[in-house]
Amino acid sequence: MNIHEYQAKSLLKKFGVAVPRGGVAYTPEEAAAVARELGGSLWVVKSQIHAGGRGAGRFQDKPEGKGGVRVVKSLDDVASNAKEMLGHVLVTKQTGPAGRAVKRLYIEEGCDIKRELYLSLLIDRATSRVTVMASTEGGMEIEEVAHSHPEKILRVAIDPATGMQGFHARRIAFGLGLEGKQIGTATKFMLAMYEAFIALDASVVEINPLVVTSAGDVLALDAKMNFDDNALFRHKDVEEMRDEAEEDPTEVEAAKHALNYVKLDGNIGCMVNGAGLAMATMDIIKLYGSAPANFLDVGGGATKERVTTAFKLIMSDPNVEGILVNIFGGIMRCDVIAEGIVAAAREVSLHVPLVVRLEGTNVKLGKKIMAESGLPILSADNLADAAEKIVKAVKEAA
Ligand code: GDP
Ligand code: MN
Repeated sequence: MNIHEYQAKSLLKKFGVAVPRGGVAYTPEEAAAVARELGGSLWVVKSQIHAGGRGAGRFQDKPEGKGGVRVVKSLDDVASNAKEMLGHVLVTKQTGPAGRAVKRLYIEEGCDIKRELYLSLLIDRATSRVTVMASTEGGMEIEEVAHSHPEKILRVAIDPATGMQGFHARRIAFGLGLEGKQIGTATKFMLAMYEAFIALDASVVEINPLVVTSAGDVLALDAKMNFDDNALFRHKDVEEMRDEAEEDPTEVEAAKHALNYVKLDGNIGCMVNGAGLAMATMDIIKLYGSAPANFLDVGGGATKERVTTAFKLIMSDPNVEGILVNIFGGIMRCDVIAEGIVAAAREVSLHVPLVVRLEGTNVKLGKKIMAESGLPILSADNLADAAEKIVKAVKEAA
């Protein structure tokens, strides 16, 4: 699960990570009130969406205008810039061309930036360890740094038995070229960040940029946090930060039915039981020249109702031009699956080709139910046959 920048900062702050003062706003008036409360003469008005690249992004209705992060010098400018952002669609490198409507703003006190650095904690699957990544090239996307200047990325893996120690943090601080009292401040910053990561079951904490101010302070100007969904049950406060408006509506609906659904970019909807079989099904669709519209594992104990719900979810994606159902009935009986498919196809008045590959318990009965339904369901005997049939049917229908 993702959260907004302002939420990440409030969580990190509780653990002692240094962040600028700020407040959230839903209207231009609130934005000006937050700025007045903060005081000073420099503020940053920041669009809150679950995507990065906001600073360099542009609003759809004003492509010649400024981005989603703006430094302003008066309360009037806080309000007028807030007005230009709220309710408007921000397009960034990470949102794709459709962009995201900005519904919340974060108003922060401005600061005098001397250096912009990059700092993150993530789980490195290769070493199975929480790893610190840092770079002197802050402010820009780390993927770009990794591509053009891989030598500029520092990595330190943390042994879970000891957790992060002062020497880990100092190694990073020296690598970033910090000096004098900045080293102690940055060390404290990193230890607090690590504590938050572990205590909150995070999967990513990314600070980009981490800045050094003219006064020598080390601050998180931006913060991104991701969490391990399987551990959310023990972090109700984090779970309450969920902003469903920022999530894919189909994925939100799927989660309500405990279906493992992930939206993808292709045109062939997939319904499969078992994650491994679902992955194999997506691969074989690619092998035959098309692309999956989703990953969907209906699970081992799917009922007729679950199959119907899953089917409706797939059909609600406007990119779907064909559906491939691949079910191996081990615990599940093929006749139950077939009944679910037939009922769902009728209910949604199916208008795209459907190929079904059923195998396992009661397969004969399952195939009979589909054949006698009068629906244009194409039956397949194995995985390759199924993929070939659906790719061909979609091409012919186009
Ligand atoms: P992102 O573009 O979505 O990653 O949003 P960021 O929060 O990283 O903001 C983008 C850029 O805005 C930063 O890299 C900074 O250069 C700039 N910025 C953000 N906050 C401040 C601030 O308080 N003062 C100044 N001068 N610039 C800021
Ligand atoms: Mn950033």
